[in-house]
Amino acid sequence: MTDKERAYYTEHIRGLLSEDRFQHSVNVSHQAVKLAQIYGCDLYQAELAGLLHDVMKDVGKKEQLALMEKYGVQLSEIERNAPKLWHAIVGAVYVQKVLNIENEDVLNAIRYHTTGRAGMSLLEKIIYIADCTSEERNYKGVERIRKLAVSDLDEVMVEALADSLEKRLADHTAMHPDTVEAYNEVILARKKQ
Ligand code: FE
Ligand code: FE
Repeated sequence: MTDKERAYYTEHIRGLLSEDRFQHSVNVSHQAVKLAQIYGCDLYQAELAGLLHDVMKDVGKKEQLALMEKYGVQLSEIERNAPKLWHAIVGAVYVQKVLNIENEDVLNAIRYHTTGRAGMSLLEKIIYIADCTSEERNYKGVERIRKLAVSDLDEVMVEALADSLEKRLADHTAMHPDTVEAYNEVILARKKQ
């Protein structure tokens, strides 16, 4: 990414995000580039998707719904009842329609950064993992996940998806089928080895 492009996208998200979320987004982009170097992914796309993944997160829920309506996004029942998932769905549409980003892989990395899905691309996995291993993350066990992130991408996906599903169980909230499918896929792939 050129300095000019980086400055453009950075300023764009600075205008839409709280200071903490802005810093998180910059950290996720750094972590995504680091993982992209390790696993041989496109560095430009990793940086771009990292910077933009949470672009809609601080926009009000009403406005997010209005944007989805405007762009004809259909939500499943689980998605309608999980407002925390909306920013990823709206984010992908926003960067496509407003920032004119057309790269499908970048759009999907943003779209699926909260749920994951079966058949995730390398970039999608990198953004999913960069999001939970960025520098400012300090949940219990983050150091172990960070280490795993730089040594075994498939194994860290197992851990991160299991964590996500465990949270849904603990909170008695619905599991998105995409997360369940992503989890089953990485688990079955591991068993085959
Ligand atoms: Fe997010
Ligand atoms: Fe995030």
